[in-house]
Amino acid sequence: MSVMNVRRLIPATAVTGAVALGLVTLSACAGTSDAADKGSSGKLDVVASFYPMQYLAEQIGGGHVSVDTLTKPGVEPHDLELKPRQIGELGEADVILYLKGIQPAVDDAIAQAGVKNTVDAATLTKLEAHGTEVGHEHEGEEHGAEEAGHEAHEGHEGHDHGTEAGTDPHIWLDPVKYAEVAKGVGAALEKADPAHAADYKKNTDALVKKLGDLNTQFATGLKNTTTRTFITTHSAFGYLAERYGLEQEGITGIDPESEPSPARIKELQDIAKKDKVSTVFFETLASDKTAKTLAGDTGLTTDVLDPLEGITDKSKGDDYIEVMQSNLAALKKALGAK
Ligand SMILES: [Zn+2]
Repeated sequence: MSVMNVRRLIPATAVTGAVALGLVTLSACAGTSDAADKGSSGKLDVVASFYPMQYLAEQIGGGHVSVDTLTKPGVEPHDLELKPRQIGELGEADVILYLKGIQPAVDDAIAQAGVKNTVDAATLTKLEAHGTEVGHEHEGEEHGAEEAGHEAHEGHEGHDHGTEAGTDPHIWLDPVKYAEVAKGVGAALEKADPAHAADYKKNTDALVKKLGDLNTQFATGLKNTTTRTFITTHSAFGYLAERYGLEQEGITGIDPESEPSPARIKELQDIAKKDKVSTVFFETLASDKTAKTLAGDTGLTTDVLDPLEGITDKSKGDDYIEVMQSNLAALKKALGAK
């Protein structure tokens, strides 16, 4: 039996409990509309898959929601496996908020939990395919397969998941796309808990405004720079690069666990020289070994660019907005903003 089959069997055996719980919930609120049956807390119980979803639920839900996050702080979310207890509890949620395509085991468990108010953030904005390189005009050189302006490089993509093959799930790192998702989450909470719809609407508007301000700061701060190219650990910043006209060069693909090929390392060394790159970025939750080796070999400095897949004590900021502002400061420094 393949590893994939084993992985799929685990949620399947645990699902009996989840389905049973789902039935109890259904009979308890039979005949009602989409409104969720709020549990013992008196609050709407929201399960968020990982930090960027948690932040939306907390900001928009405010005091009306109780948010539980499946990916605990400090845990790298890609390829997270859930404990049977977590899978069982999923069925009790009033609302599940997740981003399909970044955590396959979580996707499976959520699909089987059968919770009516299940919100997939990937459906609330438009996803694209990104390789390790985003933003480059490839002038017909050795890079082959180009599809609709996006690269599909053989050999160093490293991602085997996504809603479609090669779809980049890192939408929250573009404040504009994240605001689109926020609006959809706001609408979903209004539907699940109509009694507090006015508050969800007000909170959504406030968050969308904050994200709009953040977008303006990025656009202004990154307008004039010495170079447009940045090298980063895993290719999480494709949407951000596209939004602000930058060129992302990822050491690994969409999944941080993949290993770069020697050819990719050589290519990065050449790009660093040609594009006057000053900095190799690494991140807080994934290994920084390759980034530091590459920087050492090419005489570059290193700094943190945080993909915000989780917040810990080491994060440069306490929440999404603060860490994004630290990211902007790091990018401005690395790119030589004027
Ligand atoms: Zn990632």
